[in-house]
Amino acid sequence: MKLRELYTILKDVLKEASESPGSEALSVLTKVTSQTRERLLMNFEEEVPEEVCQLAISLAKKRAGGYPLQYITERCYFYGLELHVREGVFVPRIETEMLVELALKLIEEKGFKMVADVGTGTGCIAIAIALESECEVLATDISERALEVARCNVERYRARVRLLKGAYLSPLLPVLNDVQLIVSNPPYVPTSAELPFDVLKEPYEALFAGEDGLDFYRNFFSDPSLLARKTIIMEMSPEQEEPLRTLLKDLGTITFFKDQFNRTRFFRLDVA
Ligand code: SAM
Ligand code: GLN
Repeated sequence: MKLRELYTILKDVLKEASESPGSEALSVLTKVTSQTRERLLMNFEEEVPEEVCQLAISLAKKRAGGYPLQYITERCYFYGLELHVREGVFVPRIETEMLVELALKLIEEKGFKMVADVGTGTGCIAIAIALESECEVLATDISERALEVARCNVERYRARVRLLKGAYLSPLLPVLNDVQLIVSNPPYVPTSAELPFDVLKEPYEALFAGEDGLDFYRNFFSDPSLLARKTIIMEMSPEQEEPLRTLLKDLGTITFFKDQFNRTRFFRLDVA
C-alpha cells in the first residue's frame, strides 16, 4: 500500500477519538517509519511494507481506544524541549510551563544558586530551569521508571541536573541546607475524581493524593523546620486555594498565581 493510502486509513481510525486525526496519523507514521514529518510528506507516493502498515493500524486503533498519543510516539513537548516519555511516566502539561516561568523570575530576582524539583517525572521542570539559568538543579522522584526517563532527557540536553530517588524531602536531606528554592508539580487529584480515560493510563502515584487531593502537601510540609527560610513554588488544583491557605497559614507567606487559562494553579510559600 502507498503511504498516502495508509495515511487515509489511519486518519479514519483516529477521527472518532481525536480532534486532530490528520496530525495524529502523521505522528503514528513518524513512529513506525522512524522518519520526520517533513520526509513523510515528501514521500507520500512510496510503497510501505505490509508489516509496517499492520503496526501503524494497530497503534492507531490503540490510540482511538483512548491510549495517550505521547505513549505511542514516546515523545512529548515542554517549554520548547522535545522530551522522551513512556508508559508509566506522567506526560508534562502545558500549564506547568508557567511554573518554570515563575521559578526563573524568582531565581533571577533573588540570585538563587540551588534549586530542587520534587517529583520530576520526565525531568521537564528541572531540565528547563537548568538550561535557562545558572542554577544547580536537583531532581527527585519515587518512581524508578520516571528517573530512567528523566536520566535519558538530562543526558540528551546535557543539563546540569542531579537525579535522586526517594519520597518528599528525604533524598534532599544531605544537601537541604544549600537548597534555596523547591519547585514541584506533585500529585493533587482527589481519589474520587473522575478523570478522562487517557489520563487514567498515567501512573496512579503521579496523579492521586488521597480523598481531598492534599495528602502530598500534608506530608511534604509536615516538618516545617526543615524548610525554614526557603521558597517553595508548587502546582495545585484551582479548588485547593482555601484548604491550602488553611494548611499552610502558620508556615509563612503564601501567594497564589493563575495559569494561562485564568485558573488558580500555583502557590508560592516563603517559609518564615
Ligand atoms: N514534574 C513532572 C511534570 O510536571 O510533568 C511530573 C509531575 S507528576 C504530576 C508527579 C510526580 O511526582 C510523578 O513523577 C510521581 O512519581 C512523583 N511523586 C509522587 N509522589 C511522590 C513523593 N512522595 N515524593 C517524590 N515524588 C513523588
Ligand atoms: N493536571 C493533571 C490532570 O490532568 C493533574 C496533575 C497533577 O496531579 N499534578 O488531571
